[in-house]
Amino acid sequence: MFDAFAERLEEAWKKLRGQDKISEANIQDALKEVRRALLTADVNLQVVKQFIADVEEKAMGAEVIAGVRPDQQFIKIVNDELVAIMGESNVPLAHADQPPTVVLMAGLQGTGKTTASAKLALHLRKLNRSSLLVATDIYRPAAIDQLKTLGEQIDVPVFEMGTDADPVEIARQGVERAKAEGIDTVIVDTAGRLQIDTDMMAELARIKETIQPHDTLLVVDAMTGQEAATLTRTFDEEIGISGAILTKLDGDSRGGAALSVRRISGAPIKFVGMGEKVEALQPFYPDRMASRILGMGDVLSLVEKAAEQVDLADAEKMQEKILSAQFDFNDFLKQTRLMKSMGSLGGIMKLIPGMGKQISDEDLQKGETQLKRSEAMIGSMTVEERTNPDVLSSSPSRRRRVAKGSGFEESDVTKLVSDFKKMRSLMQQMGQGNLPGMGGGGMP
Ligand code: GDP
Repeated sequence: MFDAFAERLEEAWKKLRGQDKISEANIQDALKEVRRALLTADVNLQVVKQFIADVEEKAMGAEVIAGVRPDQQFIKIVNDELVAIMGESNVPLAHADQPPTVVLMAGLQGTGKTTASAKLALHLRKLNRSSLLVATDIYRPAAIDQLKTLGEQIDVPVFEMGTDADPVEIARQGVERAKAEGIDTVIVDTAGRLQIDTDMMAELARIKETIQPHDTLLVVDAMTGQEAATLTRTFDEEIGISGAILTKLDGDSRGGAALSVRRISGAPIKFVGMGEKVEALQPFYPDRMASRILGMGDVLSLVEKAAEQVDLADAEKMQEKILSAQFDFNDFLKQTRLMKSMGSLGGIMKLIPGMGKQISDEDLQKGETQLKRSEAMIGSMTVEERTNPDVLSSSPSRRRRVAKGSGFEESDVTKLVSDFKKMRSLMQQMGQGNLPGMGGGGMP
């Protein structure tokens, strides 16, 4: 997603590289590239026009900042505009003071509405909020079964009245049920059609009128690209939406819908669907999405992911060890496992700013293989050797034993130990801010 967009944007930055400031003359070429990039990403034309006009205005009005190159400044302006268009911060699901919170799900058939309903219920469970799923799609018996199956899978009750009842009545009774049972949130799944259809809209409007939802979420399939804008406008005008869930962002969509929904309707994207599984739902963060789009690396996610795994005390201990050169093979193993628990090495590297494009899959593969080899060799070391790697440097017989035990050559062990020591000293210097470009000034 957004790969072609990011590549195109590179062209825009290039137009300003080497210029000494942003000017009326040089900005036009850069804007043209941004425009192309947005269209490549399948962003709605009207949204593109507005976006370009806003960026141009800001770029022309921007003060020259000492030490900032024009292309960098332009990247920042585009980034800010991307964030602005998507809505600054994450907007969570409504939570009523008086339960139950009522959530109405709307959208075309096949967009992932039923799946998203179950995903939401699971998400709420993690927040200690109970939910009731309500099946009102009486036109497709399979849809009711699908919701029931998903409900069973995540152990969330499903309210249904078969296919003979009136959807409005089902929704009403579903909400009543939740109220009676003290359930925190009711999620009402509704019937979709393949296309916008007056009967569908009328029914949705009646359901909405009856149950007075706290949140009316439009489920939008990211693959619909340009169409997402029209769809959003129609649903918003006819029934009024308070938010959206953008599904199938894991697919090969060009991502444009993410930029259209809020600009068109004023309603924020609250969640994104990243896969078919019920766990695959994430709150939507415009700022992170913007930095991902720009290929500047989603460092925030990286840090958050890491923070989930290590507690602070552990991190502090590790830092102390690094600074005092106490870092040993045990710590190395711990770090390796931590990285693995965060996902593949490739996945992590791609999140680091500037790294994604530079590292080939082949290099990543090599990195992963190397880590596995290192782990195997460390596995054959004694406790003493792990905590004091220096004993290996001075003892060929120890290195031979480790090599034999792990199925490698002595030279492999020698290299591991010497690489490790180099890394340790580098980390120490970084920790003390003594590397060029790290803010310190110790090294030439
Ligand atoms: P509904 O007709 O709108 O209720 O759509 P469904 O919930 O039945 O989903 C339609 C299809 O899209 C199903 O095959 C889902 O597994 C799939 N789907 C739903 N959400 C996602 C998503 O975020 N990513 C991917 N890849 N597939 C999804």
